[in-house]
Amino acid sequence: MNVETSVRVEDKLFYNRYLVDVGRPHIKVRAHTKPSPQLLALLKVCPARCYELNDKGRVEVTVDGCIECGTCRVIGEPTGDIEWSYPRGGYGVLFKFG
Ligand code: SF4
Repeated sequence: MNVETSVRVEDKLFYNRYLVDVGRPHIKVRAHTKPSPQLLALLKVCPARCYELNDKGRVEVTVDGCIECGTCRVIGEPTGDIEWSYPRGGYGVLFKFG
C-alpha cells in the first residue's frame, strides 16, 4: 500500500508557541532606503516568514514567530544588514508543542 503523505512547514510551525519580549526584538534590520540583495534574500529564506516588504519598499522584520534557526543571521549579519541575538532567557520560541 502506497500512502502519500506530505507535511507543510507552515503546518508544523503552527504548533510552536512564542513568548514575545515586548519592545525588545532580538533581530533588528539596519535602516535603509533601498534594500540590499541580502535583505531581499531574507524575504525568501526565512521559514517563518518574519521578513516583509513594507509599502515604502523597505524590508521589515517581525520577530514574534521566529524559530531562531539562524538562517537570516548567516545572510544578513556579516554584511551589517541586520543585528541578531538570541532572545533574553525565558523569551522566544517554545518547541515542546511542535
Ligand atoms: S532566525 Fe530563522 S526564523 Fe528567525 S527570522 Fe531569522 S530566518 Fe526567520
